[in-house]
Amino acid sequence: MRKKIVAGNWKMNLDYTAGLSLFSEVLNMVNDEVTGSQEVVVCSPYIHLNSLGQLAKENKSVSVGAQNCHQAESGAFTGEISAAMIKSVGAEYVILGHSERRQYFGETDALLAEKVNAALKNNLKPIFCIGETLDERNENRHFNVIKQQLENGIFNLSEEDFSKLVLAYEPVWAIGTGLTATPEQAQEVHAFIRKEIAAKYDDSIADNTTILYGGSCNPKNAAELFSQSDIDGGLIGGASLKSRDFVDIVKTFN
Ligand code: PEP
Repeated sequence: MRKKIVAGNWKMNLDYTAGLSLFSEVLNMVNDEVTGSQEVVVCSPYIHLNSLGQLAKENKSVSVGAQNCHQAESGAFTGEISAAMIKSVGAEYVILGHSERRQYFGETDALLAEKVNAALKNNLKPIFCIGETLDERNENRHFNVIKQQLENGIFNLSEEDFSKLVLAYEPVWAIGTGLTATPEQAQEVHAFIRKEIAAKYDDSIADNTTILYGGSCNPKNAAELFSQSDIDGGLIGGASLKSRDFVDIVKTFN
């Protein structure tokens, strides 16, 4: 059975103290909510990772992830962080291909393919984000855009490596806007993604791939979104900054 995941993306928010206190609140509240086939992940800025990694090791109900990594192992890349460094402080996941990285930092599918390889080589699980802009949806190009992102970003992976990925469908028009894809719109794209995975790999890999929905997910809309047959949880931005909202979204699993 594929894993259900609720992952928080703090983005560039919370100083060190505020991040630690939010994480501690989440740990305290989430403890009894998570069962074997479910996972809660918090993707923080780099400055929190070491401390959150330590707390996560002791607690085990929540895993920790980064929001980006560099594609190289090490070297003269001032200001960058490698996958090995992230892994070394206890993180398990890394978000790659978030639309904000694609849009503001010019990250291309080709670069993301390199980053995915770097993450996997260091035993970090990528949460690989794909999704269309509003124009692309209005022009009815969203399926093509998503297919390209899959083909150029991750369909070069071996079956073994592909099986370690988590995917996140995040329509760009829904991220941070308060606009959410309807459960039907999201389900339609998730089913399409799973069909593409089955065509490239096989039915069993497609069935076992966790595909999260992201885009203005909140405690009110999460249950209906997550009840769709191909939606396996969420990548949560704004609502992950409030412990109550984030844990209420986690609770919709049960
Ligand atoms: C995100 O950043 O991945 C996201 C989905 O943000 P929000 O929930 O704020 O739309």
